[in-house]
Amino acid sequence: MQLPLVDPFERAIRYLRVSVTDRCDFRCVYCMSEDMTFLPKKDLLTLEELDRLCSAFVRLGVQKLRITGGEPLVRRDIMTFFRAMGRHLETGALNELTVTTNGSQLQRFATDLAQAGVRRINVSLDTLDDAKFTAITRWGRLPQVLRGIEAARAAGLRVKINTVALKGFNEDELFSLADWCAREDMDLTFIEVMPMGDIGNEDRLGQYWSLEDLRSRLAERFSLTDLGESSGGPARYVRLAETGQKIGFITPLSHNFCESCNRVRITCTGEIYTCLGQDGHSDLRAPLRGSDADADLEAAIRRAIALKPRGHDFDYSRQQVDGKVARHMSHTGG
Ligand code: SAM
Ligand code: SF4
Repeated sequence: MQLPLVDPFERAIRYLRVSVTDRCDFRCVYCMSEDMTFLPKKDLLTLEELDRLCSAFVRLGVQKLRITGGEPLVRRDIMTFFRAMGRHLETGALNELTVTTNGSQLQRFATDLAQAGVRRINVSLDTLDDAKFTAITRWGRLPQVLRGIEAARAAGLRVKINTVALKGFNEDELFSLADWCAREDMDLTFIEVMPMGDIGNEDRLGQYWSLEDLRSRLAERFSLTDLGESSGGPARYVRLAETGQKIGFITPLSHNFCESCNRVRITCTGEIYTCLGQDGHSDLRAPLRGSDADADLEAAIRRAIALKPRGHDFDYSRQQVDGKVARHMSHTGG
């Protein structure tokens, strides 16, 4: 029996997020510039390497695995990887296998995901207006994503919508988004825009819409009850009495959520980031490629976890973007 992974602040690491590609079929303005340069394919972990790496984490006590990117569902043969991870669900070692997606490929893959053992997915969607959707994603088409969401629900997947709160962009859709999710029985989580990566000319302070403000506006129409539950992650939840629906807030900037953080992230090149908001990372690709046995890999994982920082340093309070990290969200996986 392996000793579980515990960091220096006695947080047991149970949740792994893995970016399986940095590529994407959208170019969301807060995430990438339109002429984003992607990594050479040889730098990416192969599907077999991803399997070995994730399986090592599962052996070391990870119970929840979220697949992300880039857009995870544009990676070639990605269903092979999902099916491979499904075996850890069957043994009971893994409690949950899930994915964060922009929804563009769900029509194709929803049934396969369900068959691999996925039960819940997160779909990112910032607006229900066709023209605004194309403006924010640059290359995305709303009807395709809505059909994808329908396919997911038809396949029995529970869908949570993730919406980045953007000042002057979707402020006026707060209630229409909440109503749509209530009608369709989908949970909804709002995310504050985070200072990650160079995205060209876009202005992050201009995009920043505080979720405290968003929450006060929700409270003008609904009665909110705070829910104590936490997934060990940054989301905090409220219940709306009138509709019964659950709304989440991911507020890395206006609140600090680090004390209960039980997660780590792997990039598509096999780097491990033990904090989304810090640049510190360790390489797991070299130990992975250096030996077919997993002893070196497991030792490297333990060394990396021993360096997990207490928390992040994002700070907008001085009206400038402090604590910005250089990498893109699509590299680490949001
Ligand atoms: N392509 C998939 C998607 O969009 O769901 C998965 C990867 S994407 C990087 C994961 C999440 O990160 C999305 O919900 C996206 O809206 C969010 N995201 C990207 N850049 C962000 C930023 N600068 N601040 C806050 N959220 C961001
Ligand atoms: Fe692609 Fe997701 Fe980034 Fe949008 S947020 S560009 S869909 S990786």
